[in-house]
Amino acid sequence: MDPIELSSKLIGYRSITPNSSGSIEYLKKLLEKNKFECHLLEFGKSKVKNLYAFIKGGKGPTFCFAGHTDVVPPGDLKKWKTDPFKAVVQNGKLYGRGSCDMKTAIAAFIAASMDFLEKNGSKFRGTIAMLFTADEEGEAEFGTKSVIKWLKKKKINIDYCLVGEPTNPNIIGEMIKIGRRGSINFYLEICGIQGHVAYPERTKNPIDIILKICEKLKEPFDKGSKNFQPTSLVITSIDTLNDVTNIIPEKINMKFNVRFNDNFKSDEVIRIVNKRIRSVTSKFVLKSSISGESFINYSKTLTDSLIRSIKKVTNVNPSLSTSGGTSDARFICELCPVLEFGLVGKTMHQTNEMMEIKNIKKLTKIYLELIKNIFTD
Ligand SMILES: [Zn+2]
Repeated sequence: MDPIELSSKLIGYRSITPNSSGSIEYLKKLLEKNKFECHLLEFGKSKVKNLYAFIKGGKGPTFCFAGHTDVVPPGDLKKWKTDPFKAVVQNGKLYGRGSCDMKTAIAAFIAASMDFLEKNGSKFRGTIAMLFTADEEGEAEFGTKSVIKWLKKKKINIDYCLVGEPTNPNIIGEMIKIGRRGSINFYLEICGIQGHVAYPERTKNPIDIILKICEKLKEPFDKGSKNFQPTSLVITSIDTLNDVTNIIPEKINMKFNVRFNDNFKSDEVIRIVNKRIRSVTSKFVLKSSISGESFINYSKTLTDSLIRSIKKVTNVNPSLSTSGGTSDARFICELCPVLEFGLVGKTMHQTNEMMEIKNIKKLTKIYLELIKNIFTD
């Protein structure tokens, strides 16, 4: 199976999140034709489409590839050189929405699996599974999260999973994501007493208070953990909105973000932040919004297999990272060890999104090596 042809076919579906627009249904037909057992799963009021498919060989582990067919909206069409929903090849690059994030990686793992099955028939040790969703880029409530619940309810076991998100910053092979840090945004308001700068004794300057709070907040949270860097707090804004020079302002607002590792859960981070502020003043308003918990479900077997495959095809030694935003791996990690590895992420969510053809071919080879490592070693 040609991964470029399959990529082009998938880009043709206008699957703006959370709409499948035929993409999930197409994959179901394709996989059924190739003897996969397929379960089309619809969740939520709007029946968001998901697919769980598998093919059994002999006794052995179940390895699952995961990916999303939904894409972010194309934005201003005038800024696109080509139709975002029609794959176009120019100068060795495949253009179209989803060419980077992540229809091409789906094409790569399907092509690699078909190649493997063609050569091995049912003579391999384990089960190849695939999990597809059309709800990753948006709320993600009725996507992978719901599929994982369904798998647990049905007692369907998966031993290892790989999500094909574009993890490499520049060159294919340089980065595997093994987990992600958690993230919380904080909004702090401190009130003082306004007054004339010449009579500070009659006022209470909230800037003085916030300076002390900043010092407290910037104290280290930890030294990092086995797989994660230390938890960090970054102040992103401090505002008094005071545009004159002779008034001590009444109020000050500060925004900051905490990226935390697996030493903490979000409620602990919030508790620590509150305590640090309270050690300076009891008069404050603190709001927080949790973007996600940290997660990791690490398997040395899976990681070593992937590293070997990457090295063999690209000669690059990948780094293991927990950087970046969040992905569906946060749901899958509740079920089994999970890694993320895919294409080069440079143009994801951009206009004129594209992927080098040679990279799609390389990724297909890496995935094929990985399947071989898992099932025939
Ligand atoms: Zn993605």
